[in-house]
Amino acid sequence: MTATRPEASPSTIFVLEDEPEIARLICASLTEYGFRCEHLATGRQLLSRARQQTPDLCIVDLGLPDMDGMQVVRELQDGSPCAVLILTGRNDVTDRVLGLELGADDYIVKPFEPRELVARVRSILRRYQRSAPMESVGEKTIAHFAGWIFDSGRHAMTAPDGREVSLSAAEASLLAVLLRRPNKIFSREQLLGERDVDPFDRSIDVRISRLRRKLDDDPQNPKLIKTVYGAGYLFAAQVSWE
Ligand code: CA
Repeated sequence: MTATRPEASPSTIFVLEDEPEIARLICASLTEYGFRCEHLATGRQLLSRARQQTPDLCIVDLGLPDMDGMQVVRELQDGSPCAVLILTGRNDVTDRVLGLELGADDYIVKPFEPRELVARVRSILRRYQRSAPMESVGEKTIAHFAGWIFDSGRHAMTAPDGREVSLSAAEASLLAVLLRRPNKIFSREQLLGERDVDPFDRSIDVRISRLRRKLDDDPQNPKLIKTVYGAGYLFAAQVSWE
């Protein structure tokens, strides 16, 4: 996916929120900071709009009149992979972790400061920009490692047995960062792409464990994505890009 800087060409953000006041507040803040914002009030509207145009990022409220926000995130990742920021009124850790498990990039709990929301949006888009595999390996978008093939353009992997395994946008972007520099230790902060990251943020660990599952990498004894205690993670395999 492409996520360009607002100053260059505005990133498009779809805002799924059923409360008009909150939606107005979010769109006003994002527009003020140079983003292009579209408001959609129901899950169905958002999914059908995302089929016409894949936005750079979707802000998804979990409490919706027509369907569960989690279901929206799941269907988005299947149909139109893009960055996702979950907006939740339920201050419930299981919901947040589940959201990240489904491939969301971050979450924010209501009530929130508009500036905080804008900062999160920027941070997610920067992370995607930095990890866009195109930038580091030229036109090369296909990685081969340990019998696997990763197609960064399609957010998909082919397993050694030929099975197709799909990835969320967040997982694909994380895997691309790891594959670009195999055998290098990345700290959680580097993988999150932020220096002032919340030390209790579990999103990287959740995403790593999802990637391991998809790679059939035993979490008790991972062979591919290794945990370096006190330091972070590294990808332990030979990788070639084509
Ligand atoms: Ca709501």
